[in-house]
Amino acid sequence: MGLCTGCSLLCDDIVVELDGDKIGKTMNLCRKGHAHYNSLGSERLTPSVGGSQVGIEDAARAAGELLAGAENPLLFGWEGSTLEAQRAGVDLAKKLGSAIDGPSSYSQGMIAEKILAGEIPTCTFDDVRNFADVSIYWGDDPSSSHPRHMSRFSYFPRGEKRQKGYEEDREAIVIDVRKSPTAQIAADGFFKISPGGDGAFIEALTAALAGKIPKVEDKKRMLNLATKLRKAKFGAIFTGLGLAHSLRGDLSGFTALVGKLNELARFSVIPSLGDYNTRGFNQTLFDETGHVDAVSFKDGVSYGRKFGIARFLDSCDAVMVVGSDPAAVLPAALARKLAKVPMVAVGSHRTITSGLARVSVPTAVAGLEAGGAGLRTDGVKVEFDRLVGSVHLSDADVIRRIMEEV
Ligand code: SF4
Repeated sequence: MGLCTGCSLLCDDIVVELDGDKIGKTMNLCRKGHAHYNSLGSERLTPSVGGSQVGIEDAARAAGELLAGAENPLLFGWEGSTLEAQRAGVDLAKKLGSAIDGPSSYSQGMIAEKILAGEIPTCTFDDVRNFADVSIYWGDDPSSSHPRHMSRFSYFPRGEKRQKGYEEDREAIVIDVRKSPTAQIAADGFFKISPGGDGAFIEALTAALAGKIPKVEDKKRMLNLATKLRKAKFGAIFTGLGLAHSLRGDLSGFTALVGKLNELARFSVIPSLGDYNTRGFNQTLFDETGHVDAVSFKDGVSYGRKFGIARFLDSCDAVMVVGSDPAAVLPAALARKLAKVPMVAVGSHRTITSGLARVSVPTAVAGLEAGGAGLRTDGVKVEFDRLVGSVHLSDADVIRRIMEEV
């Protein structure tokens, strides 16, 4: 059985037929998983220094020298890296006295950190499949981002206490600024809010749950939602980028709402993190420092999320981007800043970010060409073997090799 590292669901039921040392027929991949498997043969990163092709040893040496010669290096990314590479990355950051950060510092890191600290209750996808009768997708569109989320875990499947599935046993509620594909599945359960309107929705729902008149236009619908949630036996809240961005770092209302819901029944939060091992990076760094991202090991340990990469880019004089493509998603002003910093790119494929790099060090594709482990977005550890051979080293071996040069 194969595994897919195409997103943070880490589907481990992929049937793979090998054709010699190549991947042949597959079953159970979604469209995104197919694209991930098909990417094996195209747009692969090659070792280079200053635009010239070199051997992997020369590239690793140049990467180590660039980092070792910097005053304030930043190691960024890691969401598309194995747990082993992330662990090696934290060790490298400590050795360099550098900053280390990932995209969660400008997305759902604050939610992940509260979950890991035990301040927001969570559960596994297996609990959701077996027990959840209400699934709330908040600023989250798994039909697009995690295509098998609803079919494997949260809405369509039968489970231990949910034998009738979505037809009678499960309710889907979507809170979003647009009628996303997930909202279309939820039909009557869709609540459209204005951009940035999550805080007002939280306030209104908290009031309705407390038996007060909510301050929203459609009071009756909000009171009906509160009644529905009061009847729930096991609720799951899946959070997306939309919610995290809208709350701008202030989770107090959301945390209070989750607390209120837990006075009525068990309600758990699972963030829908994007790349396959975002949760792994959060956990690895949390175990070391108590923070899930935006940590600096310069002169001890300091921390400051507040758009971590923006803070670090002001002072950093070398950056190593690992398993990540920040230039593709950062606001243009920050991407321009990033482009000016001498960069090492470590990854399996060419990206917009790797096109900016002075040094490129390729890796094998985890789960297909290299084994390792990752944490599913619900925190469950998934281990995997390689399916086919590769001329490239694993990401963990590449980081360890670079560390030898520092
Ligand atoms: S849902 Fe994600 S992990 Fe599962 S097959 Fe699709 S891309 Fe791969």
